[in-house]
Amino acid sequence: MRLLVVEDDEDVAEELSSGLRRYGHEVDHVGTGTEALERWHGVDLVLLDLGLPDLDGFEVCRRLRACSDVPIIVVSARSQELDRVLGLRVGADDYLVKPYGFNELLARIDAVLRRGRTRASGQAGEICLGALVIDPRMRRVLVKGEDIALTRKEFDLLALLASEPGTVFTREDILREVWSETWFGASRTLDVHVGALRSKLGDRGWIETVRGVGFRMSQEPPE
Ligand code: CA
Repeated sequence: MRLLVVEDDEDVAEELSSGLRRYGHEVDHVGTGTEALERWHGVDLVLLDLGLPDLDGFEVCRRLRACSDVPIIVVSARSQELDRVLGLRVGADDYLVKPYGFNELLARIDAVLRRGRTRASGQAGEICLGALVIDPRMRRVLVKGEDIALTRKEFDLLALLASEPGTVFTREDILREVWSETWFGASRTLDVHVGALRSKLGDRGWIETVRGVGFRMSQEPPE
């Protein structure tokens, strides 16, 4: 499993990371909330300290949750019931008070990952790219938590591009998949739809033009 440790105290982070590595986990470590929001992609679980130098841990948790289902365990010296409740309210999966036993942490990680797998299987297909969330089942698109109204073809086009971020889709591929036709005039229709999508998503950077070939979804979406 790949874990992200968000902890500004270097000594604590080092001890925690090496302990987790001994148990076979791959561990990334960041010391700020901002870095945590940039580095969670591809991680199986986040261990989040609340007292961070830039953003409050609750805020990090809330922002992560706005665009991701990645399991989060808050690890904090704050033991007040209010803090625990707040942590769970903003989307943490568990809350562990420092100091804690290492075995307890391992057990909680296992439990949260087990629950996460069950949950993930219930939400198959949701695509999350930073602030952009696409739910193919509900045909819903959210940017920074706000619903974006798309036409049927706009949605199909976005869902296709976002199904493999970074991969170039040729104009022919897109026309065949979304419009089921490749006649010459359809190419103009595609450009119109890309233009409309870019403006609805609020940033042209989401969809990149690959000159003479086609389009691709940005892998590092704009902030
Ligand atoms: Ca701290």
